[in-house]
Amino acid sequence: MASGAAAAWAALDDAQQAALRLGWEAFQTGNIGVGAVVTGPEGQPVSSGRNRLADSDAPRGQVFGTSLAHAEINALANVPFRAYERELVLTTTLQPCLQCSAAIRMAPIALVRVLGPDPLWDGCENLTSLTPWVARRPPTPVEHAPWGELAAFATLMARCSPLSVPAVEEALRAVGEGPLLDLVDRLRTSDELTVLAATPVEVALERLWTRLAGASEAMAR
Ligand SMILES: [Zn+2]
Repeated sequence: MASGAAAAWAALDDAQQAALRLGWEAFQTGNIGVGAVVTGPEGQPVSSGRNRLADSDAPRGQVFGTSLAHAEINALANVPFRAYERELVLTTTLQPCLQCSAAIRMAPIALVRVLGPDPLWDGCENLTSLTPWVARRPPTPVEHAPWGELAAFATLMARCSPLSVPAVEEALRAVGEGPLLDLVDRLRTSDELTVLAATPVEVALERLWTRLAGASEAMAR
């Protein structure tokens, strides 16, 4: 493995690695490549899930085969909310959307950790203007991993899906994600994406590392 990719992978904690494996599995199975893991205050695993929009089956209690089947929803689906204080950590490979931000707000989540940014959802975790009941607590903090190759990879996983929508891609280009989407286009047209889909996530990360560096530098603000 190239040293940059190997070092970055080794620097991740268990929840981050597990979320990336789940996100990659989602991509490999024709879903949108997003994975999420819920851990306890000591880092112990509580629950996990991945995107299952295209799936025809899922573990009991998880959502599949519907536009609602996002990774964070599935990670939260088997968490008994009343069994916990607001003390859990949700680690996700992609910045949560509006639906998932609301589910996170309903759940006993104290912190959201994001590996890959999704600028379309910037600020949507702040739901406090909605009602006084929601406003009784501050928004759940969202912690972003440093921008760079690994964060770019986490976002790229979600952009490789055949379920991508042109209007969303256009909006993402308008907010600066063009270099990453161009990389996805090149992987698609060269058929390299098919080759990568047959490899484990660490191998894909290694093979893409140099190009991720280029894309992330081009997107640095
Ligand atoms: Zn979502």
